[in-house]
Amino acid sequence: MSEKKDSTQNPKPKLALYWAASCGGCEIAVLEIEEKIIDVAEVFDIVFWPVAIDAKVKDVEALEDKSIDLCLFNGGVRTSENERLAHLLRKKSKILVAFGSCAQEGCIPALSNTTTKKATMDWVYKDSPSTVNPENIRPQTKTETPVGVVELPEFWEAVRCLDQVVDVEYSVPGCPPQAHQIWAVLEAVIGILKDGKPAPPKGTVLGAGDKTCCEECPHQREEKKIKRFFRPHEIIPDPDQCLLDQGILCCGPATRSGCGGLCVSVGIPCRGCYGPPPNSPDQGTKLISALASVIDSNDPEEVERILDGIVDPVGTFYRFSMSKAPLGRVRQREPE
Ligand code: SF4
Ligand code: SF4
Ligand code: SF4
Repeated sequence: MSEKKDSTQNPKPKLALYWAASCGGCEIAVLEIEEKIIDVAEVFDIVFWPVAIDAKVKDVEALEDKSIDLCLFNGGVRTSENERLAHLLRKKSKILVAFGSCAQEGCIPALSNTTTKKATMDWVYKDSPSTVNPENIRPQTKTETPVGVVELPEFWEAVRCLDQVVDVEYSVPGCPPQAHQIWAVLEAVIGILKDGKPAPPKGTVLGAGDKTCCEECPHQREEKKIKRFFRPHEIIPDPDQCLLDQGILCCGPATRSGCGGLCVSVGIPCRGCYGPPPNSPDQGTKLISALASVIDSNDPEEVERILDGIVDPVGTFYRFSMSKAPLGRVRQREPE
């Protein structure tokens, strides 16, 4: 995939893709553009994509600054290695895109910001029922071995999203972004790079709509008042009615459009992965406000009972945006 011919006269634009603290879903999502990946390889010289091509960090370091035309960076910044690559790819890229919810707002990895690094490590290496570690061995950043020193990255105290670490031109929401939107973003960038089309202003959310998920949903919302929240397994919903009108906690009113109503079109409530809608920077507050308006009671005790039906409120309201939540980090009290 690297350029082989006529690279001096008519070089292809250079593309890099990287995953930081990520589940890998955003990488798979890129492959979901199917045969269009051939077009991508045709148009771009893919210079770095650890999951797909054998290019090393030293190859990126050897590139001139700003010589990568487009870098799609997915995953949050959890470790020193994630941070080093964020700075390196920033330095080498003209357009750096926070690709997917983890890079845009922290997403699932950033739910660990509700606790401490110590508590996370204790759970993984000591307390989890699946852990067998009688000697309480913990990962070390440097370990002497007979063949030399083995190094591991530092594990940071919290997960940050990409624009909390480096300057970012654009973001693409979604967990993961949907294939049709990924292709729309790539087509738009190709238009900018090859045809001189105007670039959108810095900070633009690409590959998404400008309304809420409710606008793409096949269910008609009547904004009915509700007396309790149901978890999806506790009720068989009317397939034609809005899920929230039936008491199922759906994040649609607080979520940006763009996925095509993927979940709600098959009767699954929206979890909010496309992030806050335009002009609502904080998704959690927007969702709290949407839910407050449907609760059918003014009696504090009854309101309390209805709210008790929301299991894990912080993880519900900030499932995708904990890195940017105005709550700040919610620290667990360390043992005395
Ligand atoms: S945004 Fe979702 S799919 Fe993409 S890396 Fe994060 S958790 Fe995985
Ligand atoms: S609240 Fe959910 S189910 Fe209701 S219209 Fe909005 S997206 Fe659809
Ligand atoms: S319906 Fe909601 S959770 Fe599902 S893909 Fe769309 S934005 Fe994400």
